[in-house]
Amino acid sequence: MNHNLTLYNSLQRIKQPFVPIHEGHVGMYVCGPTVYGDAHLGHARAAITFDTLFRYLTHLGYKVRYVRNITDVGHLEHDADEGEDKIQKKARLEQLEPMEVVQMYLNRYHKDMEKLNVLPPSIEPHASGHIIEQIEYIKKILEAGYAYESEGSVYFDVPKYNQDHPYGKLSGRNIEDMISTTRELDGQDEKHSPLDFALWKKASPEHIMHWPSPWSEGFPGWHLECSTMGEKYLGSTFDIHGGGLDLLFPHHECEIAQSVAAQGHEAVKYWVHNNMITIGGKKMGKSYNNFITLEQFFSGDHPLLEKAVPPMVIRFFILQAHYRSTLDFSSAALEASEKALQKLIDTYKRIDTITPAEKSSVEIPDFISMAYEAMDDDLNTPIVISHLFDASKIINGASSGEIKLSKEDLAKLKELFDVFLIGLLGMDFGSESGGSDSSKAFEGAVDLLMEIRADAKAKKDWATSDLIRNKLGELGFNIKDTKNGVEWSVK
Ligand code: ZN
Repeated sequence: MNHNLTLYNSLQRIKQPFVPIHEGHVGMYVCGPTVYGDAHLGHARAAITFDTLFRYLTHLGYKVRYVRNITDVGHLEHDADEGEDKIQKKARLEQLEPMEVVQMYLNRYHKDMEKLNVLPPSIEPHASGHIIEQIEYIKKILEAGYAYESEGSVYFDVPKYNQDHPYGKLSGRNIEDMISTTRELDGQDEKHSPLDFALWKKASPEHIMHWPSPWSEGFPGWHLECSTMGEKYLGSTFDIHGGGLDLLFPHHECEIAQSVAAQGHEAVKYWVHNNMITIGGKKMGKSYNNFITLEQFFSGDHPLLEKAVPPMVIRFFILQAHYRSTLDFSSAALEASEKALQKLIDTYKRIDTITPAEKSSVEIPDFISMAYEAMDDDLNTPIVISHLFDASKIINGASSGEIKLSKEDLAKLKELFDVFLIGLLGMDFGSESGGSDSSKAFEGAVDLLMEIRADAKAKKDWATSDLIRNKLGELGFNIKDTKNGVEWSVK
C-alpha cells in the first residue's frame, strides 16, 4: 500500500511529507512528565497524541525508537531559572526523600497511562541519571563561546548566540520584542541579559538535589536534559521531537539554541506539538479551581464530574479532536463521547453476527483507503472516526436485514474496525468496561446465560427463558432478540 504521511512541522509552520533520516527507522523524542504531581487531562492529551503517532509509524513498518524522558531535576518554581525545585519542595512538604516523590508519581503516571492504553516508550530516561552527560554538553557550549560562568552557575548567552543564529525561530519571536517584555536585571543578577537561561545552577545550602561539577556543587537547568538525552539515545540529528504546545517557548526554543551551540547544527527534523485542553473555555490550572486529575476522572470523585469516566472514553474524547486544535472539556462533551464510543463498540460486536450474502446489495465505499488517507493527513483522527461512523450505518443496516453484505465486504468492514478503532486509535474494550480479565469473564457469563435461554426456548421451556430475561432486565440488562440471534448490553 502506498502511504504518504504528512506531519505539521512547527518550525516551518507547514505540513511536510514525512521522510525519515535513516530508511526504515524513526527516532522520536517526546517531553515526558515532571513527576511532582498527579497527571491530568493535559498529560493525557500529549501522551495519547504521541502514542497515536507511535502506533501509526510502527503500523507503517518503521522501527521506531521512542524516547520519553522523566523530568526529575531542575524544574524550578517560577521559571526555568528561579525558585525551589518543585520535586524538592514536594519532598519537604511530605517529608519524603526526593527520589521517593519521583517514584511515587511515576508509578501513578504509569498506571494512568496503562489505563488509557498508552503504549510504553522504548526508553524512559531520567534527567537525574544523566548528570555527567549534561555536564559534558555544557562544556561543549562553553567551548563554542555561547555560555559563560557566573558565581558558580553557567548561563546560555542568548544575545551572543543571536548574533550568529536566529534565536526565536520556532516561536516566531524576535529578541528585541522578548527583551522589552522581560523584567530588567537588578544589577545583583548573575546573568548578563534577562534572556539568558541557566545551563547549570549553583545549589543554595538548603537545596538537597545537587551534584559536583567543574563550576560548583549544583544541578542542571531544565532545558538541558532533552538536548542531552535526545543526542545520547537518538543521535545528533533525529526525526521527531514532540510535546505540548506550552513547551514550544521557552523550552523547545532553548533546546534548538543548545544543540546548535553544542553540535553546530540543529538536532530535530520535525517539531510536532499538540494543542491544549480548556475546561469550560478556561485554561486548566490549580488556580482556576478546575483542575481534574486522571484518577479523579476514573473514579468520578470531583465536583465538576457527574460520574466516573471510563479511561477509553477519555481517550476517544481526545481523539475526536485533531491534535492541533484546542479541545474544550465539559461533562456534556464527555457524555456525548461516551455514547458515540458505545455505538461503535456495539457495531463492532455486531459484525460477527451478520450472515454474509452471496452479493452485497449496495456499493461499499473503500473506507480503509479513506481512513489511511485521513491518518496520512497529519493524523486526522476525527476524520477516521467519521469514516467509522459511516461504516457503522452500513453494518447496522445489514444487521437489521435492510441491506445485504457479501463475505468480502463484511471482512473489509471488520478489518477497518480492527486496524483503525482497535489498533491505531487504541480503543481497548477490555479496559473500557473495567479491567480486561474480569470483563471477559463477565461477558462470558452473560453469553452463557444467553445460550441457556436459547436452549430453553428451543425446548419450549418458557418459564426458564422468561426467568433469565426478566431477572437480567431487573439487573439492568437490555436483551434484544434479532434475526441473527440475541444481543445484550448493559443499560
Ligand atoms: Zn523537554
